[in-house]
Amino acid sequence: MVIEAIDVPGAHGHSRPAVIAGPCSAESEEQMMFVAMALREAGVGVLRAGAWKPRTKPGGFEGYGEAALPWIVRAARSCGMLSATEVATAAHVNAAIEAGIDMLWLGARTTANPFAVQEIADTLKACGRNVPVLVKNPVSPDLELWLGAIERLSAAGMTRLAAVHRGFGAYGENYYRNAPLWRVPIELHRRVPELPLLCDPSHIAGRREIVGEVAQEAMDMGFDGLMVEVHCCPETALSDARQQLTPQAFADMLRSLTLRSGAEAAPGMDALREEIDRIDDRLLALLAERMRVSDSIGRCKQAAGIPVVQPARYRELIDRRCAQAAEQGLNPEFVRAVLAAVHEESVARQLAIVNSRGETE
Ligand code: PEP
Ligand code: MN
Repeated sequence: MVIEAIDVPGAHGHSRPAVIAGPCSAESEEQMMFVAMALREAGVGVLRAGAWKPRTKPGGFEGYGEAALPWIVRAARSCGMLSATEVATAAHVNAAIEAGIDMLWLGARTTANPFAVQEIADTLKACGRNVPVLVKNPVSPDLELWLGAIERLSAAGMTRLAAVHRGFGAYGENYYRNAPLWRVPIELHRRVPELPLLCDPSHIAGRREIVGEVAQEAMDMGFDGLMVEVHCCPETALSDARQQLTPQAFADMLRSLTLRSGAEAAPGMDALREEIDRIDDRLLALLAERMRVSDSIGRCKQAAGIPVVQPARYRELIDRRCAQAAEQGLNPEFVRAVLAAVHEESVARQLAIVNSRGETE
């Protein structure tokens, strides 16, 4: 994939974090003007606002659509900012580009739909314009689906791409509106290191009280930038009222972020990394040894005709090790997850042995 840098400046000329901010929805030209002026004051270079809002239930505010595009463009331009909006169909793409929107984003529900993503990619290609496109993660924690959307845009010739982590839908009442599951964007970064990675703390948090906390976590994990929902009067917002920040709260939050330099090295770290590498060598050797013993058990089970999975033994093993984990200062849930993965692999290998019916013996 060819990925070029997207020009999203950091607030007040800082290189990091890159900042995109603005209301969830464009509600009127006055609203866009007010918020753009306040954001310019806070040093923001890219103004966001939704014109088309994908709503879970019918009857909610679905955005002012095409009519809202000139509000976003005029507000951004009059403050010397770039404009960004969400597109979900070919018609949205054409209208947004026609109206002069500078940057597009695919929402979580769109990224989850390969037909929609392909339609958008084809339309962008037909426009012949290499517009920057931000790709939010799909609603479910499916990395391949997220990557697939990025690949579809890339294959259509779009090179100015970035990913936006907005959390993953979860059932029931939770601390976050959308679970962060940081390991998913971290794995995306491992797979496509050149792709800029932004975090949308507003949609992860779902309530303004914890937007700053999520933004700080994103910075600690090395994200390149933030997309934040800011509204002049959040309580009256027509969508996502609970999670939008006032321009003042937003500026305070930006100022209070602690940014670690991002340098790769710190004194003493090389030696510690070598120690980690040695421990990982031992871990891998131990896992290989464990699998060899497990294969031998598989052969015993095959010879004796007993089932591969022995639930009582598995339960006893997990309970004992989780109790031991706490004594050793390890999180029992972590140990449970590790052992479950090891057990799953053992079972898979033993099933292969049992099903070989002794052909290779
Ligand atoms: C939004 O940015 O307002 C939005 C609808 O985002 P998401 O697709 O992440 O829900
Ligand atoms: Mn929103």
